[in-house]
Amino acid sequence: MNTSKTRVVIVGAGQAGGRAAEALRAAGHTGPITLIGEEVHLPYERPQLSKAILLDSEPNPAFIRNANGWAELDVKLSTSSRAVAADVNRREIGLKDGKTFAFDQLLLATGTRPRRMPELERGPLPVNYLRCMDDALALRSALQPGKNVVLVGGGVIGLEVASAAIARGCHVTVIEKAATVLPQVGSAVLSRYAETLHTAKGVCIRCGVSVKRATADGIELSDGTVVLADVILVGIGVEASVEIAQQLGLKGQQGIKVDTSGATGIDGVYAAGDVAEQWSPCHGRWMRLENWANAQNQAIATAKNMSGETTVYEAPPWFWTDQHGINIQIVGHPGAGEEIVRGDVAGGRFTTLSVRDGEVVGGIAANTARDMSVLRRLVVSRKRVSRDDLENPHFELKRSLVS
Ligand SMILES: Cc1cc2nc3c(=O)[nH]c(=O)nc-3n(C[C@H](O)[C@H](O)[C@H](O)COP(=O)(O)OP(=O)(O)OC[C@H]3O[C@@H](n4cnc5c(N)ncnc54)[C@H](O)[C@@H]3O)c2cc1C
Repeated sequence: MNTSKTRVVIVGAGQAGGRAAEALRAAGHTGPITLIGEEVHLPYERPQLSKAILLDSEPNPAFIRNANGWAELDVKLSTSSRAVAADVNRREIGLKDGKTFAFDQLLLATGTRPRRMPELERGPLPVNYLRCMDDALALRSALQPGKNVVLVGGGVIGLEVASAAIARGCHVTVIEKAATVLPQVGSAVLSRYAETLHTAKGVCIRCGVSVKRATADGIELSDGTVVLADVILVGIGVEASVEIAQQLGLKGQQGIKVDTSGATGIDGVYAAGDVAEQWSPCHGRWMRLENWANAQNQAIATAKNMSGETTVYEAPPWFWTDQHGINIQIVGHPGAGEEIVRGDVAGGRFTTLSVRDGEVVGGIAANTARDMSVLRRLVVSRKRVSRDDLENPHFELKRSLVS
């Protein structure tokens, strides 16, 4: 039960932690809230790190609230504070500096951190990763005109940075070990489109090769070629920050398993955002959702449940990426079914629907943002659709919601 005495501790002062603190107050939680984050910065949203921070004429970091805003909300924000200990019996979180915080309810919003590439780190060139504000500011300074920028990993982060680096006048190479870029999305249409788009903008895309070792002036690849590098950024995925959860005895395949209320297996202990592992009906498996919408909405739903409301969170994965001025939104699991394409792929304005057993299980809207709300509703409703209708360019997509 949540009362005015219920002490909430949130570990992880990123988007999920910050939004959960706000949502707890909005839902009427009057007890103490402590928000613990290891970064020096106030809570912020990360999409700006690979977009505005790299692209704008001046870097202008945006924060969820300023220090006064957190004080007004009566949230005790403890930045530069790494939680290193958790005791489930004493219901206590311990910081690296020895401070402790007792809790009645605990929210773990510890997010993820970049998977590292030690074989490159052993080389003479500095290796960059992109997860926090300081990473983005350092990368921005490194992206000087004429520099050879090598991006290891052709996923969303690598391609967004490729786009920013081209805009800043760099020579850019993307190295992707899979046969195509954006392999995680699973859409052959999108992968082909992204490769064509980036190549047309001057990015050298090298798929099907992996990093062998760092040389004095670049990176040697598995096919024996050497790519010259002044700046190296590795974007090969993330791993969940689960040390605190493990101390509590919480388990998951690759994160912290939660139900649709955000609850873990321990009474009063919840998890939200990138670190939370949820059941995904369109993927048919437990997984972490690494996107802005989940960090926002699952955290808010969990906070409501912590405050005594009953809210079920069951949204399909949805995220967006901006590359060379093209807005691409992805919902569900575009790789799980047969892809139907509508619109003009060559012209950079198209929508795809992935259909499995007569239901839409995923889709992509490239510069067709208005189709996204229909795609999301189709994925959620699992409504049966007609392939003939969807393939008909004159058929209005929204009619598939009613027909
Ligand atoms: C460069 C970049 C661009 C992105 N762009 C997009 C986009 O365009 N669209 C989209 O949908 N999504 C995007 N994302 C993903 C989105 O930002 C994440 O899904 C979101 O940040 C997850 O929020 P979170 O709060 O769960 O985790 P995080 O943002 O990782 O925050 C977790 C916080 O917890 C802290 N922490 C961890 N362990 C401890 C500890 N023991 N003690 C104290 N503090 C701790 C971490 O330092 C971190 O500050 C992007 C991510 C990145 C990195």
